[in-house]
Amino acid sequence: MNIFDLARPNIRELVPYQSARRIGGEAAVFVNANEAGGAVLAGFEGAINRYPGAQPLELVQDYAAYIGVKPGQLLATRGADEGIEVLIRAFCEPELDSILIQPPTYGMYAISGETCGVQVKTTVSLQEADLSDAKLVFVCRPNNPTGEMMDAQQLKELLIRANGRALVVVDEAYIEFSEADSVVSWIEDFPNLVVLRTFSKAFGMAGLRLGMVVANEDCISLLAKVLAPYPIATPVSAIARQALTNEGLAAMRARVREVNALRGALAGQLEDKGYKVLPSSANFLLAEGGELFDKLLAGGVLARKLGNQTRISIGSSDEMAKVQEALNG
Ligand SMILES: *Cc1c(COP(=O)(O)O)cnc(C)c1O
Repeated sequence: MNIFDLARPNIRELVPYQSARRIGGEAAVFVNANEAGGAVLAGFEGAINRYPGAQPLELVQDYAAYIGVKPGQLLATRGADEGIEVLIRAFCEPELDSILIQPPTYGMYAISGETCGVQVKTTVSLQEADLSDAKLVFVCRPNNPTGEMMDAQQLKELLIRANGRALVVVDEAYIEFSEADSVVSWIEDFPNLVVLRTFSKAFGMAGLRLGMVVANEDCISLLAKVLAPYPIATPVSAIARQALTNEGLAAMRARVREVNALRGALAGQLEDKGYKVLPSSANFLLAEGGELFDKLLAGGVLARKLGNQTRISIGSSDEMAKVQEALNG
């Protein structure tokens, strides 16, 4: 399958904005981008007077090494949320194309679809869904808000069935909590697979606003055309690179182990109180009962109410002790 055939015709033809960074060039003095000529902020190590590149190349190299792909198979974005939007803008023609989701799932797929004028189709089962007019199929894995992980064999079948018609976007926002289940290595075998990653969850850096799109080079080059010219702020890539050092990765994995243990403990406490809890592969639990939300709130703990279910994020051990107090209160 040629990925270009799936893209919107106007994006296929589009020549991206030719920023000074993109045009590039070697010189002793740079007066090509209307930037200030010298240091403007004492004590700041980065060249904050300069625009960053179209992509943070060193960060992309570090992330590629971390997940075992080639740098050309990555696009750094302002959160996975921007990855979702850029995919829709590159592949879905407004008023004509649609995206497919299986609710309950992450809310931004539908919101981004709506804001781009693209139809949002829903199905009760992606396995059995008609894929004939969807351009993008979103699979949140582990799923937010249920925490469940779509079976790998079923995902493979979906990719095969969608091949030639649709991209399958596997949102791995929570995959570090179950690292072995990642499908990033599959991008070599499935040209229509796109994976989304983020620094917001297991890396603990939601304030950075940084995510990654992982896909084959052709797909990445299409998405890069649609992305804003200087998307990743210089301090953001500097901080993110620290998270990808050996120490940074060890700290992230230690956090994952702690969160997974706290999640198990909270599941036990909830079940002891008679709440039904869904098994979760992420840093949250979904429990039955809207009144659970009210009980927690009465104890000073704000969870997320989703219909007659309550989603509880797994925070620090101190925070989880407060959750337990509120449960007992
Ligand atoms: C939190 C979340 C995101 C958003 O990630 P950002 O990188 O913070 O934009 C994307 N997908 C899912 C499933 C999420 O839960």
